[in-house]
Amino acid sequence: MKLILLGPPGAGKGTQGEILRQKLGIPTISTGNMLRAAMKEGTPLGVQVKQCMEEGTLVSDSLIIGIVRERLAQPDCANGYILDGVPRTLVQAETMEKEGLLELDCVLSLEATNEEILSRMTNRRVCADCGVPYNSVTSRSKVEGVCDLCGGKLIQRKDDEEATVRNRLVVYQEETEPLKGFFEQRGMLTRIPSLPTIEETSKVIAEAMGI
Ligand code: AMP
Repeated sequence: MKLILLGPPGAGKGTQGEILRQKLGIPTISTGNMLRAAMKEGTPLGVQVKQCMEEGTLVSDSLIIGIVRERLAQPDCANGYILDGVPRTLVQAETMEKEGLLELDCVLSLEATNEEILSRMTNRRVCADCGVPYNSVTSRSKVEGVCDLCGGKLIQRKDDEEATVRNRLVVYQEETEPLKGFFEQRGMLTRIPSLPTIEETSKVIAEAMGI
């Protein structure tokens, strides 16, 4: 099973990706998490992307293609993968398609309005160690401030501050939204409406995927 989770920041890609990862036993490839890990480790890649990440602008297509190509060649991706946050531009999609990295079963577009996103993002917390997202209102961890999965500390991402979120939404509309047309033309796009709870959304996703 190979699939893409498409949608604006805060639409639930990380949350639904984690649910699907557990259900399907295939890895979630989140370029955002990979770049944040590189920043945390202070690698040359991390230093290179820091400014873009903090401003909420996109890092270069060639850099992203390089890290995704390498990641998808790892043995744990042999039976499939869930792409979260990539491709994010038409150039990324076209390049990945040419390289045979987009032989997908489906593309799930998680729909959400700007108002919903703004209110969700300000309450979003992520694990500083494994990147799994929580929400301080709708999906709290069992112990406040501590990740249920790995015991890591929950933090607010710098790019989840309101001004940055607004900027990321503009970037999404200009750069990423056109990908819906790209995948629609290829008959792969399934739109998942915004629903009140994580459980309802994952049920609709499971039905759409026939799992
Ligand atoms: P995310 O966690 O997916 O919201 O990504 C956080 C940030 O990482 C984005 O605002 C970009 O700066 C960068 N990023 C992640 N994935 C990509 C991508 N596919 N193309 C360009 N920049 C990306």
